[in-house]
Amino acid sequence: MDKRGPARSNQNIQYIRRDLFPASYRCRDDCAALMSQNERQFIIDYVSIYSPTHHERPAAEFLQSRFEQWGWKAWIDAAGNACGEAGADSPRAMLCFLGHIDTVPGEIPVRVENGVLFGRGSVDAKGPLAAFACALARCADQLEHLDVRLIGAVEEECSTSKGARFAVEQYDRPDFLIIGEPSQWNRLTLGYKGMFRFNYELRQPRVHSAAEEFFPATKAVGFWNSIFEAHPGDAEHFASAFNQLTGNIASMSTASEDVNELAVSMGCELRLPPGIDPEELENILRQHADNDAATITIREALPAVRCERSTPLVAVFNKAIRACGGQPGFVVKTGTSDMNIAAPVWRCPTLAYGPGDSTLDHTPDEHLALDEFSQSVDVLERVLLNLDARLGNA
Ligand SMILES: [Zn+2]
Repeated sequence: MDKRGPARSNQNIQYIRRDLFPASYRCRDDCAALMSQNERQFIIDYVSIYSPTHHERPAAEFLQSRFEQWGWKAWIDAAGNACGEAGADSPRAMLCFLGHIDTVPGEIPVRVENGVLFGRGSVDAKGPLAAFACALARCADQLEHLDVRLIGAVEEECSTSKGARFAVEQYDRPDFLIIGEPSQWNRLTLGYKGMFRFNYELRQPRVHSAAEEFFPATKAVGFWNSIFEAHPGDAEHFASAFNQLTGNIASMSTASEDVNELAVSMGCELRLPPGIDPEELENILRQHADNDAATITIREALPAVRCERSTPLVAVFNKAIRACGGQPGFVVKTGTSDMNIAAPVWRCPTLAYGPGDSTLDHTPDEHLALDEFSQSVDVLERVLLNLDARLGNA
């Protein structure tokens, strides 16, 4: 397909762009109101397609068909990611927006109450992806130097990160990377902690409970505590959680089918701050486990990621947020995202952005104010146009 996609007909344009308004809409305010209304309908339609991890296909097909209607190059790749591309014909730079289309399970009836959209994924992370898509739809035809690729990845909400891993292997390294995660419309997320998940397992012949030897479960607890002795936190452990090693015992079982055996299986999750390398941590843990004659199985090992603040990408966001009446803020997150996968490979100016309050992620009350959604579309439109202008001046 030609880069611009199939010929447009007005009947196909469901979400109206500024340049496609009928002549009767002379007033820019009317245009803006109508555009905003169509953009809101787009996010409502998108959130209405329930897409928990491994069931992303209908949402991916919805995005592909909308991207095609907007005249973009659009495809679903071999991983199942929904992709769209638009912008300059002879670009000087490429910006990649990497969002995710899967959500955690737990359907929430989709409804709008007093301008607030309730629904699974409204915040994490359909809102960010929808905002970016709407911003690009507004200005794709005005971009002279910037090519923009949007990737709606699958399987972000599980440890496989299949969509993002496929993207970093198969697609060209972009010059700028925006991760689509909620940060609120006027803030930028510049870092995520790493994740280290492993199982600790120990079996030993049954001994009397009055014997001198510790039971496997007791040894497991001692092992768990030793991790934090090696990496002590300060008094404000959880107050400055980004820079501390934190974690939880996610599961623990002492079941054994053999009556002559005592056993423990402990599932652990550690959240890594910058500066703790997963490989070094693994070596330390294996040494400790060897002392107990226990075995360790690593389930996931992702280092923390922290982005530069002095990049052209941050600069255009700051300018855009101010132009929209906001005061830019910066945050780091104690969870993980596809930034942990993509940023270390693509190594370009990176940040995460999107409307919504991330404390609502994964909650039964997930909701997004549609006014905030529209503000973030305004910010992203300015980001794309400002970046394009900077490339023209360079
Ligand atoms: Zn997310």
